[in-house]
Amino acid sequence: MITVQEHLSRIVDTVQRLPPIGLDLLDAQGCVLAQDVTSEVALPGFRNSAMDGYAVHAADLALAGDATPVTLPVSGDIAAGDTRALLLAPGQSMRIMTGAPMPDGADAVVPVERTDAGLTSVIVWAPVSVGQHVREPGEDVAIGDVVLSEGTRLEARQIALLAAVGTGEVRVTPRPRVVVISTGDELIEPGTRPGFGQVVDSNSLMLTAAVRALGCIALRVGGVRDDASAFLSTIEAQLLRADAVITTGGVSMGAYDTVKEVLSAVGTMRFDKVAMQPGMPQGFGVLGDNATPVFTLPGNPVSAMVSFEVFVAPALRLMAGRPQQETALVPAVASHDWTAPAGKVQYARVVLSRNGSGHPCGCLSGYTVAIAGLQGSHALASLAGANALAVIPADVTSVRAGDQVSCHLLGPVREAS
Ligand code: AMP
Ligand code: MG
Repeated sequence: MITVQEHLSRIVDTVQRLPPIGLDLLDAQGCVLAQDVTSEVALPGFRNSAMDGYAVHAADLALAGDATPVTLPVSGDIAAGDTRALLLAPGQSMRIMTGAPMPDGADAVVPVERTDAGLTSVIVWAPVSVGQHVREPGEDVAIGDVVLSEGTRLEARQIALLAAVGTGEVRVTPRPRVVVISTGDELIEPGTRPGFGQVVDSNSLMLTAAVRALGCIALRVGGVRDDASAFLSTIEAQLLRADAVITTGGVSMGAYDTVKEVLSAVGTMRFDKVAMQPGMPQGFGVLGDNATPVFTLPGNPVSAMVSFEVFVAPALRLMAGRPQQETALVPAVASHDWTAPAGKVQYARVVLSRNGSGHPCGCLSGYTVAIAGLQGSHALASLAGANALAVIPADVTSVRAGDQVSCHLLGPVREAS
């Protein structure tokens, strides 16, 4: 038996960041920059108005006040998108819209709310200081600034910045393409009602969805029979298009454990018992000309999901140029007792909630956990109902109400009502 950490270390020491590719900005959403991006433009690119109002010479309004309004002639209108080179003479004003270029000579903008909104002449009731409501070129981004550095993940906000500085395509680490294969003679295609002895292949849908949710590209193959040559030819064919392969089933001690039987002697594949519950039988190694990482997960759905979270997701993140872990474990307080196996890390399906007030003992946690339901590794209803896995160390055999436990998030945390 090896530890969770030993198996994980072997995986993360093996997988490698994928070579970079060029992608259009929106196609690069969720990917990580493979290079720094330097701006060749300034933002704003030109002096412009921060308000709808009137471009003025501030000195002309020095004496403006509620009791002493100042009237200025309005010599024109400037809308956003106006590209004329305009000049504002002293003693004049121009109606200007938010984002429109400031006319030369003007040094401030009076917001329309402090005026009578006049069209040919305008009455102003308040003074403005030089520079007020004016956006200066380069105050946001200067020419030559590194706007985003290598390793930054591109989400909506970063995509906006890259677009604003004129970038169309970026070099990023691509999303890993992950082939999902399930094995078992009992499996039938999803969308079919199972008969006696049949089981719907829920694993391949679950893992396809999990791969996608992680921001990777899932290629679902679905169910393969427990037949050595069928499995071998499937995996050989799939290696051609995969950056990683996940299989489920066929890795335990049973008589028809085809995956283990076929892959034991191939590449760097190794099959181990890992001291965890659920998820004990695990296989990992690289196969094929491109040394493609292959994760052979146990067939029980909960074991497969926990194995994905603990071993596969960290590897896929690293391949995508992301940190191995992106979300910290959440400390929470157990709301009741439960038992845990000796010598194995328990990943208990739990419901994690915010309790609003914090825990009376004064510990930092404002979260509580309760077991989500039946904990067998076949039990899908409790998996679907859980929003976290409580990670109970191997040397702990019982959790008591009030104990602090660390939780690995699977989904959003409910607010206390
Ligand atoms: P195995 O690891 O192949 O011995 O499978 C262990 C248990 O998981 C068995 O009860 C299988 O029926 C079930 N199982 C295996 N593969 C799948 C799958 N793709 N979807 C749902 N259940 C599965
Ligand atoms: Mg099987």
